[in-house]
Amino acid sequence: MTLSKSLQKTPVTIITGFLGAGKTTLIRHVLENAKGRRLALIVNEFGDVGVDGDILKSCGVENCPEDNIIELANGCICCTVADDFVPAIEKLLALPQKPDHIIVETSGLALPKPLVKAFDWPPIRAKLTVDGVVTVVDGAAVAAGRFADDPEALLAQREEDQSIDHDNPLEEVYEDQLLCADLVILNKADLMSKDEIASVTDQINTTVPRAVRVVETHEGKVASEILLGLSAAAEDDLASRPSHHDHEEEHDHEDFDSFALPIGEVADVDAFIARLKNIADQFDVLRIKGFLDVTGKPMRLLVQGVGTRFRHQFDRPWTKDEKRNGALVFIAEKGIDRAAVERALHAH
Ligand SMILES: [Zn+2]
Repeated sequence: MTLSKSLQKTPVTIITGFLGAGKTTLIRHVLENAKGRRLALIVNEFGDVGVDGDILKSCGVENCPEDNIIELANGCICCTVADDFVPAIEKLLALPQKPDHIIVETSGLALPKPLVKAFDWPPIRAKLTVDGVVTVVDGAAVAAGRFADDPEALLAQREEDQSIDHDNPLEEVYEDQLLCADLVILNKADLMSKDEIASVTDQINTTVPRAVRVVETHEGKVASEILLGLSAAAEDDLASRPSHHDHEEEHDHEDFDSFALPIGEVADVDAFIARLKNIADQFDVLRIKGFLDVTGKPMRLLVQGVGTRFRHQFDRPWTKDEKRNGALVFIAEKGIDRAAVERALHAH
């Protein structure tokens, strides 16, 4: 390594975006097309089952070996910056071969701004810079109105009771993630019409007060040249990234709930997925994901649901020293009836 390179700050890209927007798929694509860059990753998840970290570790890319991937599952990264995030990033900088670029995947409920603020701390700023905040948007979900309050319902509510708190926690997290972005990836554009793409792009440009590029894609297929190397130095530019939580000492994630449920051996995958779709619909579950043990199959089944949209695939063989324990994590707005979800899961 040359002297000038050793003095250079290591660039860090923060990938944020709401639950199920497609962050992990996008990062996997970057890892597989790193073009010789040595990458390291910090993966943060809201739920108790480490699905995203596991998917990324199992991709076996030479430029990003398992030692370069750190999972932070202890809640949202924005709340544990000092305790978890800073030590993790120091560990990556101390690797025998220093990474050329570090990617941080936040949980779907994390607020990116507190994380960017951490890069303004003198010991961190001396070594690292935020190359860019990339916000992945589930275009199809936005087009379907998931993040916007229904204006008519709101009006009816107001007529009934003036005192109702109209804050929509989904909308707030979604907007906070957009407001911090240097680049917006409009994912799942293949599920949208031309008009929907135009209107969602418009909506994003209205929300973000700065000019920000919006790139359409599907399956997270974005060239690493577009994502990495933005040289935004976001830590120097906090003032132009407003947040709904700017005037709070602390924020919390009490608007959301998550729990993991063990799932016994599944014999009929299609019937089981159909049941999950019903549960997602009935209980308004935002995200269901995890691994299943399917009768007679040597591989585990990866299941990912966003709202009522589900996909599944066998992702890798169960290893010899691992129990075939199926488990799914459920993430929803506060107040989901866990016992009722369990009953629905086991009903035949
Ligand atoms: Zn937080």
